[in-house]
Amino acid sequence: FRVPEPTNEPVLTYAPGTPERSSLQAALAIARSREVDLPMYIGDAEVRTDKKIAIHPPHDHHHLLGYYNEGDRSHVQMAIDAALAVKADWDALAWNERAAIFLKAADLVAGPYRARINAATMLGQSKNAFQAEIDSACELIDFLRFNVYYMAQIYASQPNSGAGVWNRMDHRPLEGFVFALTPFNFTAIAANLPTSAAMMGNVVVWKPSENQVYAAQVIMEVLKEAGLPAGVINLIYVDGPMAGDVIFSHPDFAGIHFTGSTPVFQTIWKTIGTNIARYKSYPRIVGETGGKDFVLVHQSADADVVCTALIRGAFEYQGQKCSAASRAYIPQSLWPAVKDGLIRELQTIKMGPVEDFENFVNAVISEKSFDKIAKYIDQAKKEAGVEIVAGGTCDKTQGYFIQPTVLRVDDPQYVTMCEELFGPVLSVYVYDDADYESVMAVIDKTSIYALTGSVLANDRYAIEKALAGLRNAAGNFYINDKPTGAVVGQQPFGGARGSGTNDKAGSALNLLRWVSPRTIKETF
Ligand code: GLU
Repeated sequence: FRVPEPTNEPVLTYAPGTPERSSLQAALAIARSREVDLPMYIGDAEVRTDKKIAIHPPHDHHHLLGYYNEGDRSHVQMAIDAALAVKADWDALAWNERAAIFLKAADLVAGPYRARINAATMLGQSKNAFQAEIDSACELIDFLRFNVYYMAQIYASQPNSGAGVWNRMDHRPLEGFVFALTPFNFTAIAANLPTSAAMMGNVVVWKPSENQVYAAQVIMEVLKEAGLPAGVINLIYVDGPMAGDVIFSHPDFAGIHFTGSTPVFQTIWKTIGTNIARYKSYPRIVGETGGKDFVLVHQSADADVVCTALIRGAFEYQGQKCSAASRAYIPQSLWPAVKDGLIRELQTIKMGPVEDFENFVNAVISEKSFDKIAKYIDQAKKEAGVEIVAGGTCDKTQGYFIQPTVLRVDDPQYVTMCEELFGPVLSVYVYDDADYESVMAVIDKTSIYALTGSVLANDRYAIEKALAGLRNAAGNFYINDKPTGAVVGQQPFGGARGSGTNDKAGSALNLLRWVSPRTIKETF
């Protein structure tokens, strides 16, 4: 079978007067006027419990969107049992039949569900319309369509045979179940982690972040409507460590597809190590974790290009992308122009609720996150070696709002240059123009993470030097652009070092982690 050649889903503009704007506004109004009661999906059952957890928009935490039903250990066990019960049937289904389900799901999001899933992402995760569109519509659709395309290539890829011999490759799913543990910051990632494993014939237990359940529910509805059989993906809302306890001690645990924090991933890795003798096979461990993504500016760069890359890279979605530009290295000769540009631009940027489409910056995800970021900012204000160039105000009365903040630091190893804040804070180190190469060495040394990075330069030698000098400091490297916004099918995404296993989301490399191939040799 040939599957459709994928192209990237066009990004809608939501400009005033467009039909997409009206339908999105209608979906927002409906969502705000209703209180949901979100069940877990285990096998063919919608499970509700006595433990109702309230859901509030981060930008308006007095408003109640409804509740989700939290489960316990017994629900994790039920989800594993439900997955294993359908494993043989799902595996036996021809791959093209599985493909059809995910292609249909992509079409459902592109059409009838687009407004609803974007509205859910906007309200539940405080993303503005544009950020929601590129995530819960375009990237999610692209993941599904491109993965189906790569999946077809994998099944078609077969070994050579000689005279009297026919060699075949049987791309078996993993023996057991896969656990998908997904983050709050991208609805597309929340959909990709369980579906990419399921596509390759696996059964899945899926636990989304407690801050993303509102849109996770819509993903599940889409998959059901697309014809995903019950039990293939089981969606549970259970405390992370509790879920991990049951899952990682289960003999049929076959792999984890994870996006989240570095400490959590390290704990998971250790737990899997401790339990290794229990499992039938060595589990697949695939994870994308933190980032502390750099922008290296050369003196040959254009100050306007630098400002745009920094503002979009650092402050879109409040800096809550693993790829966010959180540290910049700027030559002395360009700093006055860049500083003026940043201050000027940031004065025009609007911050507020997502329902006002003019707001570029919205709220950070939770009070916990707000408090953590505010603490770094408060500390920075007290340091002699830190200048608050812009922003610095935090207010959680109505929502978790943190003004886009630019810090200039004297020490390139200052804490905000090294640690991941996951918020709208950009730290800048200004270097002497002649120190371009030594600043690169500092970047590499402080790159405990190695997810994304940019070099901004017009001088080709400077670009070449950065590509070589920072070769291992980023899995996604950008020349003259912000370090965010990787597009499925164009810039496969992932990094090494503390940033993860670099199995490139939305790629054949990633899908291959979810199969355990059997080589068959037949002699005639
Ligand atoms: N793929 C996203 C980007 O390129 C980032 C994903 C993440 O934050 O995990 O901006």
